[in-house]
Amino acid sequence: PGSDSTTPVNGEIKPKIALITGITGQDGSYLTEFLLDKGYEVHDLSDASSLRRWLDTINPDEVYNLAAQSHVAVSFEIPDYTADVVATGALRLLEAVRSHIAATGRSQIKYYQAGSSEMFGSTPPPQSETTPFHPRSPYAASKCAAHWYTVNYREAYGLYACNGILFNHESPRRGENFVTRKITRAVGRIKVGLQNKLFLGNLQASRDWGFAGDYVEAMWMMLQQEKPDDYVVATEESHTVEEFLEVAFGYVGLNWKDHVVIDKRYFRPAEVDNLKGDSSKTRKVLGWKPKVGFEQLVKMMVEEDIDLAKREKVL
Ligand code: GDP
Repeated sequence: PGSDSTTPVNGEIKPKIALITGITGQDGSYLTEFLLDKGYEVHDLSDASSLRRWLDTINPDEVYNLAAQSHVAVSFEIPDYTADVVATGALRLLEAVRSHIAATGRSQIKYYQAGSSEMFGSTPPPQSETTPFHPRSPYAASKCAAHWYTVNYREAYGLYACNGILFNHESPRRGENFVTRKITRAVGRIKVGLQNKLFLGNLQASRDWGFAGDYVEAMWMMLQQEKPDDYVVATEESHTVEEFLEVAFGYVGLNWKDHVVIDKRYFRPAEVDNLKGDSSKTRKVLGWKPKVGFEQLVKMMVEEDIDLAKREKVL
């Protein structure tokens, strides 16, 4: 085990224990690898009906709440389910942590809440920890509720609880219905001749896209401070969907205009036009900064998706 996670107990090394919800998602997988590398023991919490029992059994030092229905467009189709998982799910976990601490008399457990730049919605950039929220989807409104539940448990019960307000973060493990991965999947498949057209919605939306592998490190850093607080995590650079297309198709020598078809189905009832974070507090207080830049991220995703498409082709 790495020295970061260990505390000597009677001369023995006791690893720190982390409990993660949403471990099978993009962020859960990167966070798990990161924590295992630091010598943590990592558990997944998947059954919401027995949260207290899980906490009592596992006795974690840190809890990371990453579970969500995380797709904005899908949240307009299943708003009730989205609210249950994203908003009430966070409340259930916070309440379980609070009652576990009260019942066992053990000292602090550190709680991380996965917040989202979608909470800023229509509030213009740059967006920081002090920018007002104006959510534009059931997903974003649910994330706002989870944010405030977390602040409330911190203020009401003194819980060490942090909100990470993460701007969009992508990787080759991103779900295929998010625009970045949808594009790089298509580039791979078009390149090897498995597909010719790509159907997309609004190309003018602008996002602050970072690499998920960098962002999970910020989650952990938030829980290693003396006091709990909320932090914006962002690259501070924003690009339109069209710019993402340019770079991704350009990387394999194709012109996106020959392949992209605009399809009304992919426009949202309410759009978030422009997200660009101001993460100066996070950089100053946590000493965090992103390692992977925009072009490097697109290249990494395109390369992996070309390999995937090649494997698909031989099947
Ligand atoms: P979000 O920022 O969490 O909503 O991440 P997404 O990757 O789902 O969407 C980013 C932006 O791309 C949004 O403004 C979408 O409207 C826009 N977009 C344009 N076409 C598509 C599409 O076909 N799928 C998705 N998911 N988004 C699209």
